[in-house]
Amino acid sequence: MKYFTSSLVMSLLALGSMTGISQTHAQTVSSTQQQKQVPGYYQHQFGNLQVTALLDGTNYLNRSQFKSAADQEVSEILQKYYADQAKGIQTSVNAFLVNTGSQLYLVDSGAASCFGDHLGSIYNNLKASGHQPEQVNGVFLTHLHPDHVCGISNNGVANYPNAALHIAKTEYDFWLNPNTVKKLPKDKQAGFLGTVEKIKAALAPYEKAKQIKVFSDKSLAFGGIEFKPSFGHTPGHYSFKLKHEQQELVFIGDIVHSHTIQFDKPETAIEFDIDPKAAVATRLKHFAEYAKDGQTIAAAHLPFPGIGHIYSKDGKSYQWIPVHFTD
Ligand SMILES: [Zn+2]
Repeated sequence: MKYFTSSLVMSLLALGSMTGISQTHAQTVSSTQQQKQVPGYYQHQFGNLQVTALLDGTNYLNRSQFKSAADQEVSEILQKYYADQAKGIQTSVNAFLVNTGSQLYLVDSGAASCFGDHLGSIYNNLKASGHQPEQVNGVFLTHLHPDHVCGISNNGVANYPNAALHIAKTEYDFWLNPNTVKKLPKDKQAGFLGTVEKIKAALAPYEKAKQIKVFSDKSLAFGGIEFKPSFGHTPGHYSFKLKHEQQELVFIGDIVHSHTIQFDKPETAIEFDIDPKAAVATRLKHFAEYAKDGQTIAAAHLPFPGIGHIYSKDGKSYQWIPVHFTD
């Protein structure tokens, strides 16, 4: 060991003199502050389809927003994952671009400015990935929460002027029917109406241009993309599925918000679930299916790029297996 250490030092000294590095000439770094990362896009080949994950930004959740997991258990899970809790429980906001060879589709669109300036990078990351917003033919929205829909527009102007918006009828009606708010408990009404305002503003240029295509339970496919019901988080929440030969890739939307707590304890609901019971039932059913059949998963709120697989050893708890970086 001693020999190894001293020979390593010798090698480094030799390398230093070869490359002209010496203590006197070495440049010092100016700051230890974290620098901005490279643009957030990651390309994943799926058969003859190219899927590009786009990062909107990093978001932090409060642990009290996770429901029905015991506090001690949550602490143990977060410790196991070395989850930095200083700012809260980290999640990512992702969207996905699908290039079919002839069509360009976007699945979800990020939060734009609806949640502050830590999010809202999808539009620029899409351009950084070598695509142009005008090339997007369709936007498929898993649901209408602002972190999925706000990114379609900027101050009343469509970000994707040539795209049709695909939204489930149930989802569209839930948010835009003026009667919905009357059925909610009083303490939820103001928050609901605030969300509706954001949704309406995002949809407005597409409404005006008649570019919204509402799909019903009877027409569950469009252009090679199948629509898979995954209700609970919102009443009209859908996942979207691509097929290549025997393989499937599923854009799961918001059936899960944390790669830590909700994988170890999948029965844990989150505050934003409109029907927590149904959301948990959907997660349990779909996780079991994905762990058994091995679909590739693309998720809106798992660590960027949010592409990977779901594994289970015992059918009760799960593990997120992210894709390995491929250049
Ligand atoms: Zn979301």
